[in-house]
Amino acid sequence: MLTTSVAAIGTAALAAQSTPKAAAQSPAVATAAIVTARRFRGWVSRGNGPGRTTMQEMKLRPISGRQVVVRTEATNLCYSNAGIVLGIGPVTGPVVPGTLGRVLSDMAVIQGHGGVGVVEAVGPEVRRVRVGDRVCVSGTPQCGSCYQCLRGRADVCQFLSRIGADDLIPIADLSDGTPVFENSHIGGLAELMVAFEEWVVPVFTKAAAVELGMVCSCVAVAGLGASTSGTLATIRPGSVVAVVGCGPLGLSAVQGARIAGASRIVAIEPIRERRELALKVGATHALDPNAEGDKLVERVRAISLASGPGDRYWAGGRDNGGRRSGSGADFVIEAGGAATVTPKLEAGPDPTGILPMQQAYQMCATGGDVITTSLVRANITLPAGLFSIGGVSHHGGQAGGTNPMRDIPRFVEMMEKGQFNTKALATRTVPLDQMMGAYEEVLYRTTVTAIMTV
Ligand SMILES: [Zn+2]
Ligand SMILES: [Zn+2]
Repeated sequence: MLTTSVAAIGTAALAAQSTPKAAAQSPAVATAAIVTARRFRGWVSRGNGPGRTTMQEMKLRPISGRQVVVRTEATNLCYSNAGIVLGIGPVTGPVVPGTLGRVLSDMAVIQGHGGVGVVEAVGPEVRRVRVGDRVCVSGTPQCGSCYQCLRGRADVCQFLSRIGADDLIPIADLSDGTPVFENSHIGGLAELMVAFEEWVVPVFTKAAAVELGMVCSCVAVAGLGASTSGTLATIRPGSVVAVVGCGPLGLSAVQGARIAGASRIVAIEPIRERRELALKVGATHALDPNAEGDKLVERVRAISLASGPGDRYWAGGRDNGGRRSGSGADFVIEAGGAATVTPKLEAGPDPTGILPMQQAYQMCATGGDVITTSLVRANITLPAGLFSIGGVSHHGGQAGGTNPMRDIPRFVEMMEKGQFNTKALATRTVPLDQMMGAYEEVLYRTTVTAIMTV
């Protein structure tokens, strides 16, 4: 049952207390009626252990200010969210200091990393999207006004740091009155998403929901961002690129490297099926880190020497000797990550994800760039001389440097023009009701990733 009212007043605690305010730059656009009392279903996580996520019906709270209600069409089931949804491993993220004393695992939270859908309602201050627009609810916000956005680093928009337990605001209520929040202000694992407009990017396309959900997913955006956004570093045509870890993020980076014109693309991945997929979507070489062992870095260096002037350094080649090898990849994208559980397909050489990160740095040629994107929870050790004067530039790749409003529509166009293959990544699609089983497949890596349609 839908009922409507005028805009509710003053419930956006986020705008009031927790997040830098986005100053209005033009008069508020007249809004369509705000949907209230809308009932919807979604997966709500609360407590600890398996069984913490259950399907619930809830009632949407009135929206206000810069909030946008999006009817979900599709969302990616992200590996980094799988343990939290399934109740395996730690369910509370890093502790964010606050004053409300909330514990994230005790709160009823719709998990997810955003998704794609259609705008159902907008608050009175929303300018970026209109009712009926198709949108990506992005894992990375872009306010356009903060210090980072103004200096060209929308990929680290400061709104992103305000997603802790104290920052979240309820968007709905369960039938017993329990307030329901959304992970990172976006959620995704429900029939509706309610996001502030800073997290919403309009995408003008008629693409199928599954394909759009894949290309707009946090992982595809990060992989394409690292390889084609140019925010952190730029892949030059004809260069040698290595991608360490070929899950959906790495496979997106492989495709981005192809789109950017790399001549040799080395995919490094323990799972055979994923190496084969990498070769299908653009890699020129595929290496198994288990088979290569401690020779992996040398193998990448050898590939960099295998054509052109090779090691003929007086002829423009790379000096493979001396104290610091000039061979290696010009551009390395690290997308390995830590394993929450032992995968049912081939496990990598280090479940913590640290070794692949070290190898990524070491296989980079002098003068090259390394972008790291994976979520690992330990300290990395590198030879200090290499780190200090080895001539390797490291870039921490939150969202791969993606500037959401500039780059996500570009990624959608790459998909529409056939440059970016979504079908190779979305190897499992499920409806809302079958989400939990698909998350298990993601967690145990028996599918590259999974798209849930609503
Ligand atoms: Zn994600
Ligand atoms: Zn910002």
